[in-house]
Amino acid sequence: RKVGFAVVGLGKFAMGQIIPAFGESKAAKLVAVVSGSPEKAQRVAAQHGIGPDGIYDYSNFDRIAQNPKVEVVYVILPNSLHPEFTTRAFQAGKHVLCEKPMANTPEECQRMIDAGRRAGKKLMIAYREQYEPHNLEVMRRIRAGELGDLRVISTDNGRHADPKDPADQWRLQKSLAGGGALPDVGIYGLNAQRYLSGEEPVEVRGWIDSPEGDPRFREVEDVTCWQLRFPSGLIANGSTSYSYQDASRFEILGTKARVTMDPAAEYDGHRVMVKDQKGQQQLAIQEVNQMAREIDHMAKAVRNNTEVKTPGEEGMQDVRLIHAIYESARTGQAVKINWTYKRRIDA
Ligand code: NAD
Repeated sequence: RKVGFAVVGLGKFAMGQIIPAFGESKAAKLVAVVSGSPEKAQRVAAQHGIGPDGIYDYSNFDRIAQNPKVEVVYVILPNSLHPEFTTRAFQAGKHVLCEKPMANTPEECQRMIDAGRRAGKKLMIAYREQYEPHNLEVMRRIRAGELGDLRVISTDNGRHADPKDPADQWRLQKSLAGGGALPDVGIYGLNAQRYLSGEEPVEVRGWIDSPEGDPRFREVEDVTCWQLRFPSGLIANGSTSYSYQDASRFEILGTKARVTMDPAAEYDGHRVMVKDQKGQQQLAIQEVNQMAREIDHMAKAVRNNTEVKTPGEEGMQDVRLIHAIYESARTGQAVKINWTYKRRIDA
């Protein structure tokens, strides 16, 4: 029996990527929708054979507790609403899959983790690239030693924020988005620096530049660059922006090989080039729907009661690092990491 999911928020990402991904999912089924727009909710429900009992709005959402078809609530709302809906879903006795960034502050992340523990339910953060075959193949090669020792990882993730696009309007408001390009798209690179290397940083530096007079950056920052130093000596460079031309690129420089992933964190069309002593080659890797893979991972974890690969702790690590990058940018000082975290499943 497939695991029933409710999607909360029928915005751009939910409508464009996640709802269609259920069509390719093997283990999950869309059984409820939660939306502020009754028309949109009814339209999506009708397309998926969901009756009126599977349609909720944000105020009557808690009634989902009485719907046994829903086992997982997938939160796809503006960032500041992730903690509230995660907690309400746990109170309703559901497991939660929550979009990145997990929340705007580490304290909120901790409360989400605690709420899941109290409820005895699973919390997974939707880091789709950790379920994507090109990224997984690069990780496999790194772990197998094919790149030698990693020396430098660079990531660049950015795009033009468009104030005319409703999906970008909340992203330019600090109270809803938590920050600018870094928690939104820079997070793909930040997360990749950790899952590609398999290490966690011990020191963080950050720099921020927002062009004066650009109304997009009244509340949130534009360009953020950071450096992470890892225990092995590896250094990661990251950049993100809401004003540079689209970039989604990871580069891993090892003592034996260099790997360039460009694009590296898109919904599809990933490309991986490997350059070593023998020459340069593009890897041939079968494209799959990474969103369906991610949803299936959660569904199987629920059905088999297994651990999720990207739990709340993984989301909190990035939110803590984002705040460390902000702190370093503000003070001009490096921030030493005084907490310990290790990814539990490294594959
Ligand atoms: P969006 O604005 O298109 O969708 C957000 C939805 O929330 C809309 O339907 C909106 O009506 C609703 N909403 C409810 N309360 C709201 C409020 N107070 N203010 C504004 N909107 C409100 O945004 P999106 O691009 O779909 O992003 C939603 C979430 O998904 C974000 O957390 C984002 O980081 C994440 N996301 C993840 C990926 C990914 O690849 N994993 C890609 C895009 C977005």
